Amino acid sequence: MKVLLDMIELRAAMVQNPSLELPEALCYSSANTNGLKTIRELATFRFTCRRCEDAPCIAVCPAYALEKDTDGVIMRHTNLCVSCKSCVTICPFGTMMTDFFRHHRNKDLFYDLCDPEEARKFVAACPPGTARLTDEKEKPDEHIYQLNERVLIRDYIYVTEKE
Ligand code: SF4
Ligand code: SF4
Repeated sequence: MKVLLDMIELRAAMVQNPSLELPEALCYSSANTNGLKTIRELATFRFTCRRCEDAPCIAVCPAYALEKDTDGVIMRHTNLCVSCKSCVTICPFGTMMTDFFRHHRNKDLFYDLCDPEEARKFVAACPPGTARLTDEKEKPDEHIYQLNERVLIRDYIYVTEKE
């Protein structure tokens, strides 16, 4: 059983209610060795980011907290990030949601999606229609992509010419 997180519906819910407090999810079996990162952050940099060649977000970061991995995907060193949000402001595509950068998160809002029980609780805590448990596989024609072995993401992805 996987969790499908619908980033399209999540963004719509946040536009409707900007003060919405979203539950956050982690999945420690995913490739994630540079500090604690949420599923939404991993999904955004992997699927939504336009992978700008000159990456103004990296250039503007005063803490040298952003870099590209070997696949050209932006990653944030959370231990270096000072939450200034300069990268959010300069990104021409509005890729990032500002709440990625909160320093003090409520620990109770984190769910480990590698634990089936926590995955169920996460889905129940998400706004209606934004997450579900599923046995589905990737379905690009429905904008559903695999983030890792436990998580599917629904989003409009940006495909570079190289891909
Ligand atoms: S919010 Fe963090 S990653 Fe973004 S520019 Fe500021 S220090 Fe860098
Ligand atoms: S500026 Fe925005 S779209 Fe461009 S690489 Fe950075 S996060 Fe991605």
